Amino acid sequence: MAPMATCKECDNEVDKLVTVKAGGKSKKMCEDCRDRAREEAAIAEESESVVQNMMGFKGRR
Ligand SMILES: [Zn+2]
Repeated sequence: MAPMATCKECDNEVDKLVTVKAGGKSKKMCEDCRDRAREEAAIAEESESVVQNMMGFKGRR
């Protein structure tokens, strides 16, 4: 049986860790945390573009 790994992001014991590159660094986390990190990055990107659109809209008035 393979030893369990502990995810440093959520402190859960998981079957395997995946390596995620974030901000030029590699982090090891479980697949759940990777999915969550991806979602958060997508949301952050989206809200940033919304703010830019709003500013652009204001700027044209
Ligand atoms: Zn995790």
